[in-house]
Amino acid sequence: MRLQRRRVDSGNRRIVDGYDTQLRTLFLRNVLYPVIDFAHSLPVAVMLFLGGLCYVHGIVTLGAVVAATLYMRQLVEPLDIALQWMEQLQQSGASLARLEGIGQVATAEPTGGTEPADDRLVATAVHYTYCGRHDVLLDVDLAVRPGERLAIVGPSGAGKSTLGRLLAGTDAPRSGTVTLGGVALDALPAGELRRRVVLVTQEHHVLLGSLRDNLAIAAPTADDDALLDALDAVEAHWVRELPAGLDTELGVHAHVLDAAAAQQLALARVVLVDPHTLILDEATAMLDPTTARQAERSLAAVLHGRTVIAIAHRLQTAQDADRIAVIDGGRITEAGSHRELVAAGGGYADLWRTWHGGPDLT
Ligand code: ATP
Repeated sequence: MRLQRRRVDSGNRRIVDGYDTQLRTLFLRNVLYPVIDFAHSLPVAVMLFLGGLCYVHGIVTLGAVVAATLYMRQLVEPLDIALQWMEQLQQSGASLARLEGIGQVATAEPTGGTEPADDRLVATAVHYTYCGRHDVLLDVDLAVRPGERLAIVGPSGAGKSTLGRLLAGTDAPRSGTVTLGGVALDALPAGELRRRVVLVTQEHHVLLGSLRDNLAIAAPTADDDALLDALDAVEAHWVRELPAGLDTELGVHAHVLDAAAAQQLALARVVLVDPHTLILDEATAMLDPTTARQAERSLAAVLHGRTVIAIAHRLQTAQDADRIAVIDGGRITEAGSHRELVAAGGGYADLWRTWHGGPDLT
């Protein structure tokens, strides 16, 4: 994305900022601790001096001076504790401010109200830009029929992933609309939208908590049988071997899932959500070939009976699709079945020839 220089510069700036901040706090600590130590000793010294004067003038007894000085000394510890509390209060205040910041970022949820009439996903005259300089998607029109398997192909940087995110409602177009059953995606509350359309990428997350917790975020009311069925559907048979079954704690210091199992867990969540449309963006691209084969088998089970929009980096996936949309330079340049596009001899035929490595275009 030609952002290398800017990223390196901003990284360097942050390192310098971090270093300066560390130095400043080190300086403050070097001032604070001697001041605290001095503040602890000062009252004792004052007490000894004044008590000494009073004793010399016969106003108080020596025992009274010693007792008062010792009491003063004993005050140091509770004061220390009070100071530590102050510090903890400040740290808590900073943490709370961060949480409040997150709360402020969340934008107002659409109230919904309008139900999508059907499962048709339609993009009309969609334009999208990342940094306002130039559109990476230009005038994209695309209608996905319910139950259709659509592959989106095109050269690197053409805008495939961007289109996938817009169709999933993760981002909103700069102009134009993306609708589901006649309702704009950004007018649907996030929960409603996710029940209908899910984007599956190569990023899968295992959260700290039990296997049950990890699945229940997709379906909080599902019972154990439903959770186990979802795992079975994606061939995650390893769950039967876990010592505590669904109660097994997952995470770095507990049971660690390998990449394929983590992907299966993510897919089991999709089964539980049961959306009618799935958008796949490189879902298995980062896995090694053996793991990828296993994950693809799991994926096949999830895709059954749903509308699938696959951003296809391997043209084999495109070949099996009902329809292929070719995207180049942010525009849809061709659309049709594999045979139609190969016969048309356009950009897709070129891609296929390059991929296939020979003149045989079937
Ligand atoms: P690939 O096959 O390499 O994943 P793609 O067809 O999916 O590519 P996109 O990732 O959608 O393409 O990117 C389309 C264009 O948008 C590219 O020119 C890319 O440089 C630019 N782009 C993508 N993400 C960002 C971003 N976060 N900020 C700025 N520009 C971006």
